[in-house]
Order: sequence, then C-alpha cells, then structure tokens
Amino acid sequence: MLRSKSRVLALIPAAVLALAAAGCGSSDSSGGTGGATPGGVTLVQPGKLVTCTGLPYEPFQFEKDGKVIGFDVDLVDLVAKKLNVTQEIKDTPFDGIQSGVDLDSGKCDLAAAGMTINDTRKQNFDFSDPYFEATQALVGKKGAGFTGLDKLKGKKLGVQNGTTGAQYAEKNAQDVELVTFEDLGLLLNGVETGAVDAAINDNGVLYDWVKKNTDYEVGTEFDTGEQYGIGAKKGNTALLKIVNETIAEVKASGEYDKIYEKWFGKKPESK
Ligand code: GLN
Repeated sequence: MLRSKSRVLALIPAAVLALAAAGCGSSDSSGGTGGATPGGVTLVQPGKLVTCTGLPYEPFQFEKDGKVIGFDVDLVDLVAKKLNVTQEIKDTPFDGIQSGVDLDSGKCDLAAAGMTINDTRKQNFDFSDPYFEATQALVGKKGAGFTGLDKLKGKKLGVQNGTTGAQYAEKNAQDVELVTFEDLGLLLNGVETGAVDAAINDNGVLYDWVKKNTDYEVGTEFDTGEQYGIGAKKGNTALLKIVNETIAEVKASGEYDKIYEKWFGKKPESK
C-alpha cells in the first residue's frame, strides 16, 4: 500500500517537469509566484521583472509623458513577455548599477542602462550577450572644433560618473580639467550652460542629442569599440538564458531592426 502510494507521488514531479520542458506550462503561472515563471527564473518581486536603469539616457531610456520609454525598455519588455510578467523600471544612479551593488542587493533583476560590457564589471555581475555597439564621442558647441582631446587643453571637459567615457577621459585627456556629473541630463545641461566646454559620452546618446540641439555637434568619435550588455546578478543563469534567447530571437526575426529604427530613425549598420 504505502509503497505504491509513494511511487505515484514520485511520478508527479516528473510529469510536471516534462510538461514544463515541453513548454506546456499553464499560463496561469503568469504573474504568480516568483519561482513559477518559465525557465525556473526567480524574480526579486513576484510577477514583475524589475530593471535598474539610470535616467535619462535617451534614446535607450528616458521619461516622456510620465512613462519610461526607449530602446532598452523595448528590448527588456520582450524579456518580460517571455517570462509572462511585466517590466518595472527603477531609476537609480548609474554608478550603483555598473558597480553591481544594485543587482547584488536585490534591488532589481536586471540592469539595462546602455551599459558597456567590460572586465571590471564582469567580476561583479554577469552580462548577457552583446546587443548594441557603441564608441565614445565628444560633444561641444558647433564650430568649436573639438575634434580631439588635444583641442581641450586648458578647458573643461564634462564626464558622467562611473562611465567608460569618464574612464577614457581620465586615461587620455592631458591638461584638461575634468568635471564629473551624476547623469547624462546634468552633463548635457553643463554643456548648454557653459559649465563645461565639451562632454564625453557614448556616440548613440550624443548623436541623438545634437539632432534636437542643433547649436551643438559631435566633434569626433574615439574608437573604443564598446558593446552593451544587460546585467544580472552573478550566477542568475536561468534569467540570463532567457535574456540571451530574447536577444538572439529578436535579431533573427527582424524585430531588432524595427526597434532600432524606431529609436534611431535608421537601420542598424551592425548589432
Ligand atoms: N556605456 C557607458 C558605460 O557603460 C555609459 C552608460 C550610461 O551612462 N548609462 O559606462
């Protein structure tokens, strides 16, 4: 009696696993408990995919009419869709994101912040496969002729705290006064008010800004060959797997190109 009962019970988990593996899991698990999301992903808040980002970083993430929108937002929305949950965005200083502190403390499941994959960061959290190519660039007043860091001798160059751009400037700018700003909005405001002569940041955001701020220009790009990745807490392989699957699928399906065109107004040259 007892023996056969335990045998029946032992069969149930196997059947459930088989169903889950076949992708037949009930959609009722959507928005349910954290552990019930597809792929065995555990989320910091049940039913939500919480993403840390540093606003504003247009066109990757920025606020418009009270909503956070952008390229990264669209991409992570697709990850959330795969998990049957909705994305919730947490705006937090970029330095806490890139140091891994926010992911480590369970503030968010993912970090999507136009963030460059690099070795220091890789020691502190895990990155998805690359989803975007970037390089550093210099922005200043039109006609100022800021075609290189050597043109900024004796001048003030704005950098954004914790970024690869700040690092690049620290390494390569000589006889230039570096002024650190907390986020991209403050940095560009510094350029507009003349608090700094120029600013360094990623090419995507600066080209986007000069489109709307036509008194300014991107004087040059530096060939830093960066790639953006989405961050997850160290060892969260289940979630990262879903992120990587999403990236691969959107690239293959043409959805990536659509999202790219929506935010950059042209087709991607590379991805
Ligand atoms: N890509 C840059 C970096 O990772 C800037 C990112 C950002 O400011 N959001 O440092």
